Amino acid sequence: MTLTTESAHPHVITAECPVPCLAGKLPTRALNALNRELRPDPHSHGTVADIARLHSAQRLEEIRGIGVGGIVKIQAVLAAAGLTENSDQHPDHSSAAPRPA
Ligand SMILES: [Zn+2]
Repeated sequence: MTLTTESAHPHVITAECPVPCLAGKLPTRALNALNRELRPDPHSHGTVADIARLHSAQRLEEIRGIGVGGIVKIQAVLAAAGLTENSDQHPDHSSAAPRPA
């Protein structure tokens, strides 16, 4: 599963995408909070990979303004971009679904 941006130039969201590529995918509040957290200077942006790093370090919940709903949406974006390392949510449908005989 891939996730495309909702910008004027749609493209698949990848680890290299800057945070603003997620506009429309995440709440504006969460986007702004991520930008504040990740932006090293006003002329550059953090990337989706940076968000994945915060997520795996479980630091997303420490960032003011994201909120639980924002974290859920961030996780969905990361999962769609193939960036979550959470084996609990491994998309392995074959074990859950009953196999046709
Ligand atoms: Zn992008």
